[in-house]
Amino acid sequence: MNKSFYLETFGCQMNVVDSEKIVALLGEIDYQQVDQPEQADLLLLNTCAVRDKAVRKAYGHLGRFKPLKDRNPQLIVGMGGCIAQQEGEQLLEQFPYLDLVFGTHNVHRLPEMVQQVAENRVRCKETEFLDRETRLQLFPTRTGQEAFTRFVTIMQGCDNYCSYCVVPYVRGREISRPSHEILDEIHELAGQGVREITLIGQNVNSYGTKDDTEVGFVELLEQVNAVEGIDRIRFTTSHPKDISPELIDCFGRLEKLCRHLHLPVQSGADTILRAMNRGYTREHYLGLIDRLRAVCPDIRLTSDIIVGFPGETEADFAETFSLLEHVRYSELYTFIYSPRRGTAAADIADDTLTAAKKARFDRMLLLQQDICQQVWEQDVGTVQEILVEGTSKLGEGQLFGRNTWNRIVNFSGDESLAGTLVSVKITRSFRNSHLGELVQSAS
Ligand code: SAH
Ligand code: SF4
Repeated sequence: MNKSFYLETFGCQMNVVDSEKIVALLGEIDYQQVDQPEQADLLLLNTCAVRDKAVRKAYGHLGRFKPLKDRNPQLIVGMGGCIAQQEGEQLLEQFPYLDLVFGTHNVHRLPEMVQQVAENRVRCKETEFLDRETRLQLFPTRTGQEAFTRFVTIMQGCDNYCSYCVVPYVRGREISRPSHEILDEIHELAGQGVREITLIGQNVNSYGTKDDTEVGFVELLEQVNAVEGIDRIRFTTSHPKDISPELIDCFGRLEKLCRHLHLPVQSGADTILRAMNRGYTREHYLGLIDRLRAVCPDIRLTSDIIVGFPGETEADFAETFSLLEHVRYSELYTFIYSPRRGTAAADIADDTLTAAKKARFDRMLLLQQDICQQVWEQDVGTVQEILVEGTSKLGEGQLFGRNTWNRIVNFSGDESLAGTLVSVKITRSFRNSHLGELVQSAS
C-alpha cells in the first residue's frame, strides 16, 4: 500500500530545490505527497538557519507534530536542511518524538533512512559532509511537475565567510556543477515545456573559478542563452565582489537575460562592509550599479540589507539610507542582524539597543515603500511582455505571470495561454503586483 508524506520547506532557493529532490526520491519508494500533516505517515521539515526567526519558526512547526505523534506512534517525524546540519544529534536528544535528522549533504540518503525507521523503529541521523566528487555526482534528480519556470542548481556551498552568515558552515565548501550537466538538465526542462530558467547558487558569479569546470559564468550564460525553447534566464545570488565587467555586459547583449539583478549590498557604510567581510566598498558597489545602468538603462535592481550589525552607528546607518535613496531598488529584503553561533560576528561586542535597531529598520522600510511605489507606478500605461505561469488566485478567468523585472502581473485571459509570452497593458500597480489587460498573444 502506498504511504504518504507531508513536507514543509523554509528558507532559500537551495532548500526549494532540495525539497523537489525529496519529493522525487520519496516517490521512488512509493511515498505520495499530501497537503495535511494529519493525513501523512511521514512528516518532514526542510529548515533554514540563517536567522533566529527562521529557526524559531521551524521549532514551532516541529512542536505541532508532537500531538500527531502522540496519537499515532507509527508516524515518522524528520528534520532536514540547515538546522539539522547545524544541530545534528542534539536534535534527537532534545525532541524525543523526532525519528530522523538529515543534513544538507544527505538528502539522497532519505529513502534509506525512512525505510530503516519504518522497518526497525530506530532513530537515525546523517549529517556528514561529503567530499567533492561524491557531491558532484548527486546534483541531478528532478520531479516531473509541470511548470514553466524552474530553478537549476549550478553550484552548492559558499566560501565567502561573510562574518554574520551561517551558510558556509551548514552548506559546506563551494563547488560548481559541470556545465555539460547543467545544460543537459536545461535541455531536458525545455523539452518538458519550461520557458524560464533561474540559475541558482549561493554565489553564482564565482561559478567555475575554483573548480575544474571547463567554463566560467559568462560562458555558461551564453550557452544557456543558446538553448532553444528557453525564453528567459535569471540567476541568483550574485556577490558584488565577483561581478565582472564581462558579466555586466551580458545585460546589454544576451537577449534572453531578464533585465533584473539581485545584488545584495548589506550595508552602505565602508566600516560595516569591512566588518562584514564583504570584500567591496560602497564606491565599488555604486560603480557596478552605474555600469549596469549604462549597458542596460532600464535594468531594475533588488538587494538585501542587514540593519544593526554589531558596531553600526547612526552615521553608518545614514550611509545605508543614502545608498537606498541613490540606487532606488525596485524591491528590498531587509533584516535585523541576528547573531549566529560559530560565525565571526557573533564575537563582536554589540552595544546598540534593540529599540534603536528597530527604529532604523522602520525608517528604512518607510523609505523603501515610497521608492517601490514610485518605481512600479511608472509601469502603469505601458505594455509589457509577460510569461504566463498559470491561473491566478484572484478568481475565474484570471491569469498571472511575470514581467522581465520579476513582478507578478494579473490579468484576464484563457488558461490555454499558460506557458506563452503575451503582451499585457498595465492598468494598476499594487504593493506586490500589477493588474493588467491582455493586448495580444506574442507567441
Ligand atoms: N548567498 C546569498 C544568500 C545569503 S542569506 C547571498 O550572499 O546574498 C540571504 C540574506 O540573509 C543575506 O543576503 C543577508 O542579508 C541575510 N542574512 C544572512 N545572515 C544574516 C544574519 N546573521 N542576520 C541577519 N540577516 C542575515
Ligand atoms: Fe552567506 Fe556571504 Fe556566502 Fe552569501 S556570500 S551565503 S551572505 S557567506
